[in-house]
Amino acid sequence: MDARYRRRTRHGILAAPLAPTRRELHPLYDGSSGTFLPVKEGNDAMATVKFDKATRIYPGNDTPSVDRLDIDVEDGEFLVLVGPSGCGKSTSLRMLAGLEEVNDGKIWIGDRDVTDLSPKDRDVAMVFQNYALYPHMTVADNMGFALKIAGVDKSEIRKRVEEAAQILDLTDYLERKPKALSGGQRQRVAMGRAIVRSPQVFLMDEPLSNLDAKLRVQTRTQIASLQRRLGVTTVYVTHDQIEAMTMGDRIALLKDGILQQCATPREMYDRPNNVFVAGFIGSPAMNLVSVPVETDGVKFGSHPVDIERDSLAKAGSTVIVGVRPEDVEVTTNQDGLELQVDVVEELGADAYVYATPTDERIQLEGGSADESLAKPFIARVDGRNVPKAGSTIYVYPKQEHMHVFDKESGARI
Ligand code: ADP
Repeated sequence: MDARYRRRTRHGILAAPLAPTRRELHPLYDGSSGTFLPVKEGNDAMATVKFDKATRIYPGNDTPSVDRLDIDVEDGEFLVLVGPSGCGKSTSLRMLAGLEEVNDGKIWIGDRDVTDLSPKDRDVAMVFQNYALYPHMTVADNMGFALKIAGVDKSEIRKRVEEAAQILDLTDYLERKPKALSGGQRQRVAMGRAIVRSPQVFLMDEPLSNLDAKLRVQTRTQIASLQRRLGVTTVYVTHDQIEAMTMGDRIALLKDGILQQCATPREMYDRPNNVFVAGFIGSPAMNLVSVPVETDGVKFGSHPVDIERDSLAKAGSTVIVGVRPEDVEVTTNQDGLELQVDVVEELGADAYVYATPTDERIQLEGGSADESLAKPFIARVDGRNVPKAGSTIYVYPKQEHMHVFDKESGARI
């Protein structure tokens, strides 16, 4: 084998941008810590992460903030923890980092039970929302600081910092102070601080929230592709479902400390486990309409929808029919749920129709926190053929993309 290639793949993140993943590297792979940076003593090759019924009850609280969390993260996987504010995302991440006590259950990294290990012994590196850089230090010193504290020798620090700077496009800025950097560059320095430590696992807690909207979009792509190049197992926290959908290999969605579903973005979108997942994933959100179960089945307005008898038998007296805006049939021939068009949002190729059921008894589920605001029904239509505001339309779900949930339990049926 070419000696240069060998050196690079075994020891250098320099192998980017076409670095093989760790698994592809397997024949050569000699137990490095996962970043292709020099091997640390005692590191295990497999950096899986396992939350094993991990539970956290804060002192003084009655209910757990994280309740028997079970997630298996694969080696090299990018897992996103997502959910509304207060659902327990940060607590879960902090339990994995060792910053929060685990009251019940266990946490594993590879085959090590790390539940009671101190943060420094876990071989994880964390990137926080407030990644305060030391203002009086250069970029290079900021990036190498943790290694300096750990007593790594100077030439080794320099080498790792330069490698990380190269993949983060920071080589020209190494001697600058943080105040002379843009927001995006500072964010990359924060990433660099984690990368130079060559951890088994990256932990990121809303690392993009200090960036403006445009930069967030750019940076999320960069982080996702960087993670794939480095192949380091990553657990990433965000409240933003778009970030979760675009970045994660899999998404774990939490609500009130309880895991609702852990699946690929596609599965979460196409087969949400319950009403909460259905309403949280997707933008604009899925339309969720309660309809009674009658002897002759279920109707969406005047349109009969086809649900297996066996499934219906398991449901209560009411089910919630869910349909995404792009999966709605819109007609004017009185077939379906009658709506009055409030607004049409033209986007060029498509348009979104926002409409309200004419029958006031029909309310859409999953409205905003302010319950007084009735939630509109949203349908995506061809931009060249849009209904007029104030007109009446009829909608029903395309059968193959319809979702049905039990009203009582919220579970998919
Ligand atoms: P998220 O990151 O999803 O916004 P957190 O993990 O920060 O949520 O918090 C989960 C729940 O735990 C919230 O209800 C929050 O109020 C509670 N909580 C967080 N930290 C503490 C603490 N130090 N003491 C008591 N309760 C806390």
